[in-house]
Amino acid sequence: MKPTLGASTLLDRLSHKRCDPDFLASLQLAAEARFVVLIGLKPVIVSNEARNEAAIRWFTPADLRRLELSDQDVLFLGVDRQSGAGHFALSLTEHRASLVRGATEHLRPLVDLRTIATQGIMSESEVALIGKAKSLAAWHDTARCCGHCGGVTTVKDGGWKRKCWACGHQFFPRIDPVVIMLVSDGERCVLAHEPHFPEGMFSTIAGFIEPGEDVDHAVRREAFEELGVDVGEVRYLTTQPWPFPHSLMIGCVAFTQSGPLKTDPAEIAEARWFDRDDCRTLLAGAHPEGLWVPGRQAIAHSLIKAFVGGGALLKI
Ligand SMILES: [Zn+2]
Repeated sequence: MKPTLGASTLLDRLSHKRCDPDFLASLQLAAEARFVVLIGLKPVIVSNEARNEAAIRWFTPADLRRLELSDQDVLFLGVDRQSGAGHFALSLTEHRASLVRGATEHLRPLVDLRTIATQGIMSESEVALIGKAKSLAAWHDTARCCGHCGGVTTVKDGGWKRKCWACGHQFFPRIDPVVIMLVSDGERCVLAHEPHFPEGMFSTIAGFIEPGEDVDHAVRREAFEELGVDVGEVRYLTTQPWPFPHSLMIGCVAFTQSGPLKTDPAEIAEARWFDRDDCRTLLAGAHPEGLWVPGRQAIAHSLIKAFVGGGALLKI
């Protein structure tokens, strides 16, 4: 049931130790420290010749020195649960990386996380770890100045906080909550094709939660706005961090009466009711009209699969 890009269990985050700069410095300076390098938010990886298996390319402190890469402002990801070794992310712009001597040899291959997750070529725990690093790094890229006074903010707590140098205001990593819902009458569900989707792809509908809303309200509002349906009961199914750039997907089933759909053409190109047999063929990539649904890296896939499975949460 849990989608691929869930919370990584690979490292212990040690969140209660992030505010101890001496502790972080000792981890960072140790020979066993490891660094994942992101360039333009894409991770440096290692892959086999066939390019169907990949893993994070972990850099040692000696590697960083050899490449003349500063380990200032690295992001603390956590410690290895067995060895206790500190693991960090180092985020570089493409321009900075291009100035590294031997970049093409040492800082390649670079593969976008969405591609890695879609292709299923890396372990789920490493994919999730890159997602965490990427989300955090993406926030830093847009949080360099204080929204109150315009002063420069500096990195604190191993990258889990920024503080304004001038007024002292503190800023924390951004997470955007999104409701993603399988609208169902108990026997069928609604899947939609949005104008920007690839041809033939249908998925569950989704939308950002607005200030002042709870999850149920956001689900009902989105279902009405996008599909024109009145939702009754809302049940929570699962969540997924979605690092594009820093969303949290909250997966729900939204029960409604069967009936015609009144879609919002700005958001939805086409929406249809699908029964469980239809959904089985969609998941198997065998739909007679060539329609398909997102792969198992997406929470939509988990929601559709749960609907096909017909568990208690999916029944009225
Ligand atoms: Zn300020």
